[in-house]
Amino acid sequence: QPTIGVLAVQGDVREHLYAVEQAGARATTVRRTTELDGVDALIIPGGESTTMDKLVRAFELRDPLRARLGAGMPAYGSCAGMIMLADRIADARPDQQTLGGLDITVRRNAFGRQVDSFEEDLHIRAIGGAPMRAVFIRAPWVEEVGEGVEVLARVEDGPAAGRIVAVRQGPLMATSFHPEVTGDHRFHQLFVEIVRGKA
Ligand code: GLN
Repeated sequence: QPTIGVLAVQGDVREHLYAVEQAGARATTVRRTTELDGVDALIIPGGESTTMDKLVRAFELRDPLRARLGAGMPAYGSCAGMIMLADRIADARPDQQTLGGLDITVRRNAFGRQVDSFEEDLHIRAIGGAPMRAVFIRAPWVEEVGEGVEVLARVEDGPAAGRIVAVRQGPLMATSFHPEVTGDHRFHQLFVEIVRGKA
């Protein structure tokens, strides 16, 4: 059983711990370097990416995290976690840094004020079967993807139809939405398969 850490400086940590366990892996929180050393893979939860960035630096986790990501550790980010894994933020604040790894440009709070939060059923081939309920909460979207990035899902309805909201690049995966809050753990199962080297 692989051990999957959930970065626990800020955000919806508990929901991811539960989803990981439901998906058949061991789950543990990561707040310090020694804890990072003990995990096979990492989930970066939803929350607030500017705060998460500040805390990651304050906890002196930024360099160790970048080193593990650079060495090929599998990682999955939801929402703010997607922003943390992105190489680039469109219209970034001058003081906001990401960890990077995914060759994508994200736009924060991209869906705008009128549609702050919404839900939609998405058909996602990578997880198969029934459509998945996707919960978007002040979500980013992916504005550009590099050549090595696979698009897993796009918005299907409304003014944002066609926008990219789930991606994978080798061992790195990210979603604009929050599969950890719906009880549908297929994304976490896919991530566990990636960690096992079987997907
Ligand atoms: N808007 C948040 C940010 O920019 C992300 C929101 C979320 O994770 N639900 O970090």
